[in-house]
Amino acid sequence: MLYPWQKEDWQRLGALRERLPHALLIHGQQGIGKRDLALHFAQGLLCETPLADGQPCGTCAACHWFSQGNHPDFTVVRPEALEASGETETDEGGKKKAPSKIIRMEQVRALIEAVGVGTHRAGLRMVVVYPLDALQTEGANALLKTLEEPPPSTVFLLVTDRLDRVLPTILSRCRQFSAQRPTAAAALDWLRSQGVADAEAQLALAGGSPLTALHAAEAEEQPLQRWLVGQLGAGAAFDASGAAEQLQKLPVPAVLGILQRWTYDLLKLRLDGEGATARYFPKEQAALARCASATDAHRLQAFASRLTGHRRSENHPLAARLVMEAVFLEYRQLFR
Ligand SMILES: [Zn+2]
Repeated sequence: MLYPWQKEDWQRLGALRERLPHALLIHGQQGIGKRDLALHFAQGLLCETPLADGQPCGTCAACHWFSQGNHPDFTVVRPEALEASGETETDEGGKKKAPSKIIRMEQVRALIEAVGVGTHRAGLRMVVVYPLDALQTEGANALLKTLEEPPPSTVFLLVTDRLDRVLPTILSRCRQFSAQRPTAAAALDWLRSQGVADAEAQLALAGGSPLTALHAAEAEEQPLQRWLVGQLGAGAAFDASGAAEQLQKLPVPAVLGILQRWTYDLLKLRLDGEGATARYFPKEQAALARCASATDAHRLQAFASRLTGHRRSENHPLAARLVMEAVFLEYRQLFR
């Protein structure tokens, strides 16, 4: 996806399309969306019916594979620690060793093997590596060798916010692309649209990086969000006014977002029947199944569309508590 402040970056990337470099090094401040820019560019180049400005259509077979993470001509290399999806609810329970924060040598070997076999779809092969500084010396040297003898039809998009840590030999093999940081106004607009309550303070703390600010705000809100998810599982016994009281500190969009995902899961379980699994809250499968069996698809669909309606009028902070309480009461009605 593109962020609102990336329009100019996108145009500059588009200008490279005619003579694509073998390797593009996208650098810039941390937390401004360089990785998403690189992924969007990669998807746009693989897309079978891209839009006039080079953006991916989002609907063709290539886009579909890309978003599912299994396009045969797309390889992404990143530390294990960055592989978890954005959803906090989907992390695995139980104790596991901490995921690696470096790019392992075997990942680089797998990459080199993948680019060695040519393309599957007669188009380009796209490789995205981020952050480039997560490569250790051995991996960086192996990548360098590949960049020195670039395989045909292959484009490497390397992403870093630490240009000073990139080996000069790698630098010399790449075209550099400096991603722009957003203006404060653009960053604040976006943060507010994401439901961050004290956007100014968060942006200042994050040194002007909107994505860093969003993650920090979300992390602060996580305990409350988790609490809400636990409460929703009570179904007909859900304490609507108690929850509205408790959640006053959460921005309404965040609460509505959780409710939308929760309702999506309820509907999915309801419609798919036995054996269906939750998409957003797999850890709450039991509670979801209980709630889903206590209501019906018709009511859930009506509630889902009312939630969409609420989202249109969600940015009135004074009414936050009233909105929440009203929505929570509607939720409880589902199980009457
Ligand atoms: Zn497409």
